[in-house]
Amino acid sequence: MTQTADRAEAAGTAGAPREHHTAGLPVASAPAVWARLRRAGREHGALFAVVVLLYGLAALMALASPWILGVIIDTVRAEGASSRIDVLAALIVVSLVLHAGFTLVSVAASIRFGETVLAELREEFVRAVLRLPLGVVERAGTGDLVARTGRDIGHLSHTVRVAVPVMAVSTVTLVIVVVATAVLHPALLLAWAPSVVVLWVSTRWYARRAPDGYVRELAAYSDLTQGVTDTVEGAHTIEALGRQARQTALNEQRVGRAYAAERYTLWLRCVWYPPLEVAYMLPIALTFLAAGLLYVDGPLSLGEVATAVFLSRQTGRPLEQVLDQVDSLMMGFTSLRRLLGVELAEEGPSGPDAPSGGRPGEVRLDGVRFGYTGTEVLHGVDLVLAPGERLAVVGPSGAGKSTLGKLVAGVHPPTSGDVRVSGVSMSGLAPGQRRGRVVMLSQESHMFRGTVAENLALALDLPGDEEADRERLWEALAAVGADGWARSLPDGLDTRVGSGNVPLDPARVQQLALARVVLADPDVLVLDEATSLMDPRSARHLERSLAGVLSGRTVVAIAHRLHTAHDADRIAVVEDGRISELGGHDELVARGGSYASLWHAWHGRG
Ligand code: ADP
Repeated sequence: MTQTADRAEAAGTAGAPREHHTAGLPVASAPAVWARLRRAGREHGALFAVVVLLYGLAALMALASPWILGVIIDTVRAEGASSRIDVLAALIVVSLVLHAGFTLVSVAASIRFGETVLAELREEFVRAVLRLPLGVVERAGTGDLVARTGRDIGHLSHTVRVAVPVMAVSTVTLVIVVVATAVLHPALLLAWAPSVVVLWVSTRWYARRAPDGYVRELAAYSDLTQGVTDTVEGAHTIEALGRQARQTALNEQRVGRAYAAERYTLWLRCVWYPPLEVAYMLPIALTFLAAGLLYVDGPLSLGEVATAVFLSRQTGRPLEQVLDQVDSLMMGFTSLRRLLGVELAEEGPSGPDAPSGGRPGEVRLDGVRFGYTGTEVLHGVDLVLAPGERLAVVGPSGAGKSTLGKLVAGVHPPTSGDVRVSGVSMSGLAPGQRRGRVVMLSQESHMFRGTVAENLALALDLPGDEEADRERLWEALAAVGADGWARSLPDGLDTRVGSGNVPLDPARVQQLALARVVLADPDVLVLDEATSLMDPRSARHLERSLAGVLSGRTVVAIAHRLHTAHDADRIAVVEDGRISELGGHDELVARGGSYASLWHAWHGRG
């Protein structure tokens, strides 16, 4: 197992640890995967040792019968059919029963081992996915993530559940057979020499090419998943624009690339397998020859010749299995690189958590420029908000208002310039630290399938079932005026909501999102037109809930309705990626600029 893995490593990443960025999210370096596997080894080494020991005992029992058969042959030749033969035959039965027994317990132990490690890796992956910064997911596309949660977890499960135990048992069996053969006569091992050369050369050839082939294959499938997801999600748009043929062609290209990548790895296997077949049949014939010569020369008895041939036959299956699983191990290894890569995506540069200079709640943008792709959307924004200040951001659609909000929330780092919240640069913070400072609330909040308590506890590391925690959940609901209807739900906090459960109207969903903000308790809140999709009555109701959330926080509200702007301490007018006007409502109206004309237009006086 180790040997194969070494080869995979040697072939996978020559030299220094590095990560490559394929379809989107990063892929961990091979040394990083090794480090993770060594940790699993340290944590579960004892159980793994028990597994290997049990398999070793099972293999020993399996090898007892060829050995005893040899002894029977020699006994018959020496003494004829004596009573010892019956004892030896009974021993064969005992060894077979023991073999079955040990196999049973070793399979059970290895399943326990595999499932434990797999569960840990899965949980780590889920945690990493949940911590992913929004900007990273937006850039990488969800298809890559879907492919990783689907195909890669699948490959890894197969590797951990099947490949690793089969490798362990086959390797142990092979070692025992080799030792037993050497004990019979060391010269018998020469029968293996040609096979070792064939195996070494062909497997090396394969291992040099396979890891990159598999990385490409999995990336091609990620790209395909992404393409299909995009097509399904945007089906109406595609139809409306009459782009069906083009979209089909694009997806066919993706299928073509996935097909080519799969064909390449298939070709590698086609070249690799035939020499393998030769390599494990040849030793049987050669052992026969070598043992025969040793019999003629004298050192081996007829029984020992038989034992040697039986033993060499016993190597075929484990050897075949080891080499079969090499493939699966490489796939699993590649998948693990992709799964661990998700954690790398969140590893932003992490700076000090303590505020340095700035007051808690202060927001400061210095010369902030940003573009999603090539074109710049924000062209140098300077802005300072005092703690507790409420800023409304208004301006024409597409001017960059939401983008500005996302930069304050740290969803995207600025291309140049700096965004500081409470004195700390947002791009210098890990996502977890960032979320403690700024929370962004958008027009539509998602309701997860689960209980109300679970939906609220998302904001915290609460299990959501302790009494004290529940008290906090109720307080948060009360703060946004949602405790009334929440108490009237059939099971209170334990009512299951989300698709297929108790339906909640959009205003209530938004209230729950606001309650999450109360729980997360950030210094700064970015509201991206949080009430714009509501009908006016719900919106007014929600704004009252909002009041409970806003107090004591610095607020950047991207305003759709001008009356929210009217209530703000200051208003920033964003036009074409720049702040064109900044000041209080009366001041800006008096100035007679863009805001004044927007205001007059809104009042029907313009
Ligand atoms: P506003 O909120 O003022 O309507 P946005 O900040 O949403 O404006 O958008 C500003 C510009 O950035 C627009 O030209 C928009 O097309 C572009 N844009 C917004 N989001 C993305 C994105 N995720 N990827 C690429 N371009 C984007």
